[in-house]
Amino acid sequence: MEQQLGGIHHVTAIAADPQRNLDFYTQVLGLRLVKLTVNFDDPGTYHFYFGNEEGEPGTILTFFPWPDARRGRIGAGQVSATAFSIPENSIGHWTERLARHRVEVGSAFERFEETVIPFADRDGLALELVASSEDDSRVPWANGPLEPDHAIRGCHAVTITGRRCEQTQAALADIGFRLSAESGNRLRFTTGDGGPGTYLDLLCQRDAAAGLVAVGTVHHVAWRTPSNAEQEHWRQRIAELDLSVTRVLDRHYFRSIYFREPGGTLFEIATDQPGFLVDESLDELGTRLRLPEWIEPRRLEIERVLPALRL
Ligand code: ZN
Repeated sequence: MEQQLGGIHHVTAIAADPQRNLDFYTQVLGLRLVKLTVNFDDPGTYHFYFGNEEGEPGTILTFFPWPDARRGRIGAGQVSATAFSIPENSIGHWTERLARHRVEVGSAFERFEETVIPFADRDGLALELVASSEDDSRVPWANGPLEPDHAIRGCHAVTITGRRCEQTQAALADIGFRLSAESGNRLRFTTGDGGPGTYLDLLCQRDAAAGLVAVGTVHHVAWRTPSNAEQEHWRQRIAELDLSVTRVLDRHYFRSIYFREPGGTLFEIATDQPGFLVDESLDELGTRLRLPEWIEPRRLEIERVLPALRL
């Protein structure tokens, strides 16, 4: 088979207050803080990585908290919803849990024969829980606040809203995504082995207002690739599609290239290696501020400007 992207690697979004963001994802959603670092392009800003027990690709949601930034607008040319996979019998548990934590929750509904609970985080970021009928063996955070029977397994899907669906659909096909289901104006694509964590839903809305990336919106979605060599294959393929693609950037925990699909959504292709265990043991993940060696010399200066956090 031709090379395939392996599904979602991570989703990166913008938050406002760092502490409120940290508390929501760890204490309400029960994700593990697997890496506490800074935005390598702007080291005065935190970069939080939340994920499962081992911080595996496909379980990762990351945030840049920008305390003074304005609220964004969810719309076209963006990831307009990020879905997590939960066990099939956990809908009641989560409905009750989100209500108890005063989370903004919509009515549950069926999509592609699975129950979906739409909700928003403290900054209005659009999230969903999908009670997946498919096997999902990803291991949740062992010391998290949820019983393992109900905990989030990882990402399930991203939805991108598009005004130029034909062009987006063609580009997705060119990078190996397969159309797997269709309902109204929603096209579901999958890649790699399929299943939870590999889905991309394209919501076609010709008249959608353009999104504005700021607080409460997704900055980009990253797709998995196993090796540097395969990443280079994708870089060449994307350049052949006349999409502008960046050089390879060292993100310390993975290597990244970025491009925009024709509808405007920012995509990244990130390597599975070396991963979050490269500078911390499994027990230590996320317990202190980690800086890559090229930023470490500026630690004192950086720690002075970062807001204080209670972990
Ligand atoms: Zn990224």
